[in-house]
Amino acid sequence: MPPHETGSSDNPLLLKLRKRIGRDGPLPVSEYMQACVSDPEHGYWRRRDTIGAAGDFVTAPEISQTFGELIGLWCAVTWQQLGSPAPVRLVELGPGRGTLMRDALRAATRVPRFTEAATLHLVEISDALRQVQQATLARAPDQPAAATWHRDIAEVPDGPAIIVANEFLDALPIRQIVYANGAWHERVVALDAEGALTFAQGARIEPPAGVPREPPPSAIVELRDGEEQLLASLTRRSQPFVALLIDYGPGSAAFGDTLQAVRRHEYADPLAKPGTADLTAHVLFAALAGKARAAALAVDGPITQAEFLGRLGIAERATRLMAANPGKAAAIEAGVQRLMAPTGMGQLFKAMVVRSRGLPPPVPFG
Ligand code: SAH
Repeated sequence: MPPHETGSSDNPLLLKLRKRIGRDGPLPVSEYMQACVSDPEHGYWRRRDTIGAAGDFVTAPEISQTFGELIGLWCAVTWQQLGSPAPVRLVELGPGRGTLMRDALRAATRVPRFTEAATLHLVEISDALRQVQQATLARAPDQPAAATWHRDIAEVPDGPAIIVANEFLDALPIRQIVYANGAWHERVVALDAEGALTFAQGARIEPPAGVPREPPPSAIVELRDGEEQLLASLTRRSQPFVALLIDYGPGSAAFGDTLQAVRRHEYADPLAKPGTADLTAHVLFAALAGKARAAALAVDGPITQAEFLGRLGIAERATRLMAANPGKAAAIEAGVQRLMAPTGMGQLFKAMVVRSRGLPPPVPFG
């Protein structure tokens, strides 16, 4: 694995991309993002220690165990609302280090028969993170007997399903299209005169459905095809499902470039040192909800993460945890405050449910 601090001049993926762009022309932003994460030699997915204090970015389950615990209880209660089917597919998309699922299973054992009824399905594209998840869950005493890993949700067997995804959608590549001279154009990654990567305006395109015909000048719209693919996989399921999607992004329609790179907990230039930073972009919940409804699915929310966790009882959970671990009380409180922060994760992050029609809205949306 390449060291983290590869200089930009000898960054191996940069050399590869330079050749590719020289040969084939500029890359749509989506293809650049895809190359950065999935290059078989130098892609970001080959890295193991990307999430957590020692990595590049920290996620909610790594900040506080209450996050996974409340989601575990949410899964169990949602299972009861489905009529307690057995077996039930418990699916996580992009499980990271496996922390959320470990904490979720520990909490969910308090609901009788749920973990016995659940078969666990972890959808993970990164072999490196899959190994981390296996190690995390192997240490968990409450794991259901059957845990299987998949590269795509389409591989998860049919049957009633409860699906959770935290910071999964933001990692799926986006296209960017930019409005200029009265028409939409693909935004691309090109080479400048010095051979450095640079954003540029690509070919004129016909905007897909839903894109405004007369946007503000220089508007940028971000399009994430992976959402359609996920929704198509969900609609193909013959049994009812409930999917909880938590991610960062605005609740209402929005324009603008939100592509961001984070390395070692700091924002970085998304075009510098490709393959060595986490590349993500906002999830546009209003657009996602529209696509889900168009696919004949029901949508609940989005609501802010603070509202979601607050209604699930994070304050009570934290109080009990602090009483049981007085030595860790300050750290527990700080973690919960970070998840709920009105100027941070509590507002920026949203929780939204996409589910089969005909089911009641799950807690705490109902
Ligand atoms: N949910 C975890 C990790 C978030 S990071 C947490 O909250 O800590 C994004 C996760 O999605 C990583 O595990 C990453 O490897 C995985 N991932 C990214 N793209 C994917 C894809 N196309 N299919 C499956 N998993 C993917």
